[in-house]
Amino acid sequence: MKALRFIAEKTLEITTMPEPVLEGEDVLVRVRGCGVCGSDVHGWLGLTGRRIPPMTMGHEFAGEIAECGKDVQGYRRGDLVAVQPINFCGSCAPCRQGLTNMCTNKRFFGVLDEDGAMAEYVAVPQKLLYRLPDGFDCRVAAMAEPYAVAFGSVAKAGDVEGKTVLIIGAGMIGQCILQNVLLRKPGAVIVSDLSESRLKIAKELGANHTVNTKKDDFFKALQDLTDESMIDICFEAVGIEATANQSIKCLKVGGKAIWVGMSQKEMTINMQDIVCSARTVLGSFNYTHAEFGCVVDLLVQGRLDYSTLLSKIVALNDAPAAFKALHERPGDYLKIVIDPTI
Ligand SMILES: [Zn+2]
Ligand SMILES: [Zn+2]
Repeated sequence: MKALRFIAEKTLEITTMPEPVLEGEDVLVRVRGCGVCGSDVHGWLGLTGRRIPPMTMGHEFAGEIAECGKDVQGYRRGDLVAVQPINFCGSCAPCRQGLTNMCTNKRFFGVLDEDGAMAEYVAVPQKLLYRLPDGFDCRVAAMAEPYAVAFGSVAKAGDVEGKTVLIIGAGMIGQCILQNVLLRKPGAVIVSDLSESRLKIAKELGANHTVNTKKDDFFKALQDLTDESMIDICFEAVGIEATANQSIKCLKVGGKAIWVGMSQKEMTINMQDIVCSARTVLGSFNYTHAEFGCVVDLLVQGRLDYSTLLSKIVALNDAPAAFKALHERPGDYLKIVIDPTI
């Protein structure tokens, strides 16, 4: 089979690989959609150490079952499935609490040295599958993964009904957070970013207000937009020092910041901004297996507006160029999905 191999820093190659071998409870998925994540691009550039060559990337994927292992039940050849890519053990302490994303034995498809789905086929344990209706577009289903990252963070916000919400960062995850927040009847939603084109998309998706921090004064704009009352809940979807501090300083007394972005390992935070105003800062990492299923349901029910987020569909052969484009012109794309069947 054909696979896109990450063989060295900044080097991707289309090569022929043996087809994966199935364990009893595995299905062979013929990949029909695999998203390129920002973390894939950062890994390819050698910035994070989260992709260890040689390996095949790809953790945002869906496809068609090509073959079932001997112990697989309830699925058959031709079924369409979305795959929750965090392979959890099911028996460790976090797993027993349902926190499969915190599994101490987890293996993540397409992360570190674990092969993923930027290939024609991938073997997946049955327990990670969510069924899709016949005819559902797998390129869309591949977007369940970033939507699930957002869903997991919004779930931690508690009740957002009537609250003033700020989302810092209008990249793919920020836009997915926006859509998930809008499903929960917020009071007003404000989105901030440096890119006018991304803010325009946020506005089209239903943000009440946007703040362009390149030209507007961040705090002044928020004071004006909220009649000085400021923010109840802030989602930080950038992950650098400047925006992490913004996410705390923008809050009301007792407000809550949820950190989803993570681009900088260490940073300086003003502790008094948290302690003296009794604010909460909460980290959110990925999604549980159950949360992923909720997102697949929302996508299938047509309740998430993916059309403006899916920027481009490319063949496997064109994937190296897509990585380059995402690196060189990040403002031009939100999500690029590889379809190895074209
Ligand atoms: Zn991702
Ligand atoms: Zn576990």
